Amino acid sequence: MLLPIEQLLILQHTDQQVCEITQALCGLPEEKKACEAALEKAAKLLLAVQARAQEFEKEIKKLELEILSKKEQIARYRTQQLATRKNEEYTAFLHEIATAEQVISTLEERQLKLMEEGEALLPERERAQEINAIEQKRVNAILGTLEGRRINLEARKKELLDQRTSLSMPIEEELLEHYERLFKSRGTAVVPIEHGVCTGCHMKVTAQTILTAKAEKEMLNCPQCGRILFTEED
Ligand SMILES: [Zn+2]
Repeated sequence: MLLPIEQLLILQHTDQQVCEITQALCGLPEEKKACEAALEKAAKLLLAVQARAQEFEKEIKKLELEILSKKEQIARYRTQQLATRKNEEYTAFLHEIATAEQVISTLEERQLKLMEEGEALLPERERAQEINAIEQKRVNAILGTLEGRRINLEARKKELLDQRTSLSMPIEEELLEHYERLFKSRGTAVVPIEHGVCTGCHMKVTAQTILTAKAEKEMLNCPQCGRILFTEED
């Protein structure tokens, strides 16, 4: 094999690795975002259940105050009732007290119902808390792994780029530029001829091209795609 071809193949292998690493690095923010979205969803679920529970508590407290105020009203009626000497006023207070007691009983029933409904929410609340905790743990673990992967990939990329610098040093400038243009536009720059076909563009090459490649005397480009050709076939 011609020395420049050998050198370019090693360079190409390095460049392909750099490409793969760059792609993997590009995918990391997406993975991170997906993780954080899952966590956010669990947190929102928990917040929603908590908000509903708070609504119940607020409503129960409100009823509590209403009941208290009714009870105070009854106490006032009783005082006034004791003070009055008129029979019809006495009866009217009795009626007012009975009405207020009826209201209290209705309020207490509502309060009890709300308490029951609030309690029924408890398992859902616990479940949401559980899910949230699990998600938090899971996401933190993944985020840690992703960060570790990022650091490793960055380090490996730097290593490869350093290697690349020394690998490209002995290659003639014009050839290197030609290679870089091909690699950038086509993904591969140096490809073998296999079974009479350029493995870059999969077009048949002429018998003359194969012979030239086999002779290993000059650099050769695929007439169709321009890639640098070589052959290892006999
Ligand atoms: Zn080709």
